[in-house]
Amino acid sequence: MKNGAPEDVKAGARWWIDEPVRMALFLYNQYQAPVDTDAFVQKLVDLHVNAVVLPTAGIAAFYPTEVPFHVRAPSLPEGRDLVGEIVEKAHAKGIRVVGRFEWTVNQDKSLIEAHPDWVQRDPEGNSPLWNDTHLMCVNGGYMQEHIFKVMDEALTRFPLDGMFFNYGGGQRTAFGPCQCDNCQRLYHEKYGKDLPLKPDPDYLEFMGECAAKLAARIKAFAKSKNPSINFMVGREADSTNSETHGAPVAEAHAFWLYDASETVNRYRAAYPDRMSFNNDSAFLDGRWRYAHRSAPEGEIRGFQNMANGAGPYLFVNGNHEQFDRNGEKGALPAFTFHRNNEDLYVRQENAARVLLIDTPRPTLTQLLMFYGTQGENEGLPPGNGGFGYRDSTELGSGSENHNTAMSGFFRLLTEHHIPFVLSKDLSWIDSDPQRYDLVISSKGAPPELDAYLKKGGRVLAAGATRPDLDLPPTVKLWKRKETLASYWRVRDHDLLPSLRDADLMFFYSDYLELESPGAALTLVPRTKVNPMEMVGEGLHDTDKPGLHLADYGQGRLAYLPWDLGDLYYRASAVHHASLFSDLVDHLLPHGRQIRSNAHPMVQITLQQQRHRNRTLVHFVNLSGGRRLPTTRPSPWAPSRSRFRANLPMQGWPARVAACQCVAPTATPRSPCRNSIPMTWSYFHDTDNFQYLPDDR
Ligand SMILES: [Zn+2]
Repeated sequence: MKNGAPEDVKAGARWWIDEPVRMALFLYNQYQAPVDTDAFVQKLVDLHVNAVVLPTAGIAAFYPTEVPFHVRAPSLPEGRDLVGEIVEKAHAKGIRVVGRFEWTVNQDKSLIEAHPDWVQRDPEGNSPLWNDTHLMCVNGGYMQEHIFKVMDEALTRFPLDGMFFNYGGGQRTAFGPCQCDNCQRLYHEKYGKDLPLKPDPDYLEFMGECAAKLAARIKAFAKSKNPSINFMVGREADSTNSETHGAPVAEAHAFWLYDASETVNRYRAAYPDRMSFNNDSAFLDGRWRYAHRSAPEGEIRGFQNMANGAGPYLFVNGNHEQFDRNGEKGALPAFTFHRNNEDLYVRQENAARVLLIDTPRPTLTQLLMFYGTQGENEGLPPGNGGFGYRDSTELGSGSENHNTAMSGFFRLLTEHHIPFVLSKDLSWIDSDPQRYDLVISSKGAPPELDAYLKKGGRVLAAGATRPDLDLPPTVKLWKRKETLASYWRVRDHDLLPSLRDADLMFFYSDYLELESPGAALTLVPRTKVNPMEMVGEGLHDTDKPGLHLADYGQGRLAYLPWDLGDLYYRASAVHHASLFSDLVDHLLPHGRQIRSNAHPMVQITLQQQRHRNRTLVHFVNLSGGRRLPTTRPSPWAPSRSRFRANLPMQGWPARVAACQCVAPTATPRSPCRNSIPMTWSYFHDTDNFQYLPDDR
């Protein structure tokens, strides 16, 4: 092979989904070019990387570009082509190369004289610089035409295996909606009115469509140059790129231990034919890019990716000579394990039989437009391990969690070792109503679940948003502050055996009171909390229900008309976990897929590989996870953990024929620090099995 892609590439092959990929991005700036390209590639080899995202062109070119208004990186040595050298040397080592580009800004100061239509304009028609660069408009001649000359040059020179654009195909926003002639004309043609001065829903739709149209043109162009390229941009991407960050410093959003799991679970469910490349953004915060998270925090991000159907992916700033080696150190365990067990990490599909309905998230366009206003909502959780400051309005380290109700159920499911799919897709209700045993909705319930329930489905819904289902009439919507110092009375300990030690249970959230007598939980309204001699004075019972549990057609519905998910996210109340656990057991017709005595901080996922006719059970040891930072996890011996699996999946009757444990640092009998996949092979004769490792 000479200067070509790795030899196993066939035209039309999709390496990003059909091969086990371990990706890395060393994001060196234009002054840090890795002029020692041998050392750079050796660093990738040492980390077991088999795909690299390589800074290539756009804001700075790392090769001697001939395209005008395309600035060569100042650290590019005269007469050298660093992209070409690295592509050739990486390919020689079997490492694929994804070219990284960014088109949103241009640092050539002479550009505005020659092409005044390329830049964004404010309402006065000015085009102020942003960080010493011109802000390019997605509808201007630069993005619409000129960047195709750069891509033509790069794709002609280099046999790239993929293309990634920072900021998708969209634009950066520094002073509100661009008011340039092109934007004005296009917006007026579509909406029959002038551009707004602040983003509104029409404008966000407009910008989203402008970016999507351009991305589609670029994809067609890139594929015409190289049909087997992995195009990682826009709505029709071949694969997606996302980032997992740690606790922020200059922003207020909460640290989320399960960020990598959530991201990959969601994308793999939504796009089974695309790969989710979710990186461990090793830097502490977008403003401190050369100081890193702890190494164990990086480890769990890689293993969470792998346990949910993707590969590990490291993102550090700087070249191969790092200021803080914790970036690489944290990546190495997952990369090594992946390299040693590659056949486990191809074409995994989530095999869970519980669906957690995903809640709407802001689009990229919305995030970019509204970033400066994040955190103004009342009731968002504070830093939770981050500093909780709101010191920066510039896009830096992710956004705040507006989906705490969903996140609470994410934790409840994970801590109870209940494998689940995170998705908003409900189209299976018509085509395959048996696909899930249980559907969980954290905020009300969508109307599609009516048909699912009537066909025999099981639903657990929560939140004071009235579900779009057949329910008793509403009496009153209580606001959170009205429930201060209120409780639920536990009236049915047979239904809720895990609450046998509790007659009263805390809650504090909005509450939708329904006409539903005879409930297992009933409201104990607010009582006195001071002075101590009068605490609880006036405590009395009502018949106001805290749980609506009823048959629904052929199915069964449990509705908690208060915000269990948000409360668990914030307070982790043990009784709320018990309530959840008992209701899940009540609703599941055939029991849980897995039961285990493993610690709640051991995350367990179920993935299937149809082409191998087997199921993988992944264990990710998160016992070192705190709010900040993640520390070395507690040693964990799988042989001392009992678990029983209630497999197979629907329509796939099978029995365990073999159990194989593969551990990165341990045999099945000795402690192991991190992720352990176990694999089962199937035979089609019986319909159940139990695996209780030798632990007695
Ligand atoms: Zn414009």
